[in-house]
Amino acid sequence: MRSARVWKRLLGVEHTVVERVLDDEDAHAVVACVRPTRSRRRRCPVCARHCPGYDQGEGRRRWRALDLGVVQAFLEADAPRVRCPAHGVVVAAVPWARHGAGFTRAFEDTTAWLAVHTSRAAVGELLRIAWRTVGRICARVAAEQAAHMDRFQGLRRIGIDEISYKKGHRYLTVVVDHDSGRLIWAAPGHNEHTLERFFDALGTDRSLQLTHISADAAEWIAKVAARRCPQAVLCLDAFHVVKWATDALDQVRRQTWNTARKSGEVALAGQLKGARFALWKNPEDLTRRQRAKLAWIARVNQRLYRAYLLKEELRLVFKVKGPRAVALLDAWLSWARRCRIPAFVALAQTVTTHRAGIVAALLHGLSNARVESTNTKLRVLTRLAFGFRSPQALIGLAMLSVGGLCPPLPGRG
Ligand SMILES: [Zn+2]
Repeated sequence: MRSARVWKRLLGVEHTVVERVLDDEDAHAVVACVRPTRSRRRRCPVCARHCPGYDQGEGRRRWRALDLGVVQAFLEADAPRVRCPAHGVVVAAVPWARHGAGFTRAFEDTTAWLAVHTSRAAVGELLRIAWRTVGRICARVAAEQAAHMDRFQGLRRIGIDEISYKKGHRYLTVVVDHDSGRLIWAAPGHNEHTLERFFDALGTDRSLQLTHISADAAEWIAKVAARRCPQAVLCLDAFHVVKWATDALDQVRRQTWNTARKSGEVALAGQLKGARFALWKNPEDLTRRQRAKLAWIARVNQRLYRAYLLKEELRLVFKVKGPRAVALLDAWLSWARRCRIPAFVALAQTVTTHRAGIVAALLHGLSNARVESTNTKLRVLTRLAFGFRSPQALIGLAMLSVGGLCPPLPGRG
């Protein structure tokens, strides 16, 4: 009896009886034969209700558990089916694993924790599972964590964003809490219908409690916001405005490069091609070489250097914030309008169109570092999630890493 208790602790299971432990030499694994304690038997996996038994299902099943020392381990048990009045004939719930999982809870929680805290290669190597499997586990763990938590409590200021994945072929709509910096909601799609689902989940009362919404300039976001929370001030995300400027600068750099190449200035064209990162980076992050490159651009191509300064100045507007930032924004606008660089004249036009939303963002301090870092992390995750099959796996991983849903390692809570 005492050893059964030790096994239970080793395997990290609760409400479970360990009947015996075998050494399965063919599978190179330790197998613990288990059953749920009496009170946990014949429960529906969806609603947890006690149900009449239906049949023995497909007989014995195995669930992968965390390795014991250097050996793989499994739990083995019957997997009978029950008939739930609400959910029909289903495989009965087991206390050691989530519904539909081939792994124990402890194994899945460890997978989720590692996916958030280590590299993709490390998770796979350590746990001996494919990245796609990691994705499915993340989706399952995040969904369960989310069900136990009220993520929308006290929500006042939110950011709505669309991010692309699958090399820009698919989109997610994501909602971030400006005050905690956390991702609170995400769903596949980027249109009015998708966003309506967020407000449905939030509920009317809480939608009417929102004070500020920041977003890119997408019309569908503005439309839904006006319908569901007309009282909230709509602000334009600093992140997007700065990206417009970076795109305009890139356009100028490419034109300059093309002109140099066509007129046979091969050396100049080559140098300009390498200048991309120096122009992109924030000046405080430049390496010495990149600073030298920038100085060189200032000497040989004043137009491109002016475009760079225009980009930097606009970025600065959002660093300043408040009424001073609004004055700076207007000074930038009059400079950009007269700069005779088409990409920036066009940008001045766009910024003028959206001035009200930008001013609102500046005055309400809605561009903060925490949300920006969440946005950046989300974009890194979309690349990491390339091997995942479903958007739910990407959403799961995102909710675990920037949504605060990552479970603690088993046995530490
Ligand atoms: Zn049920």
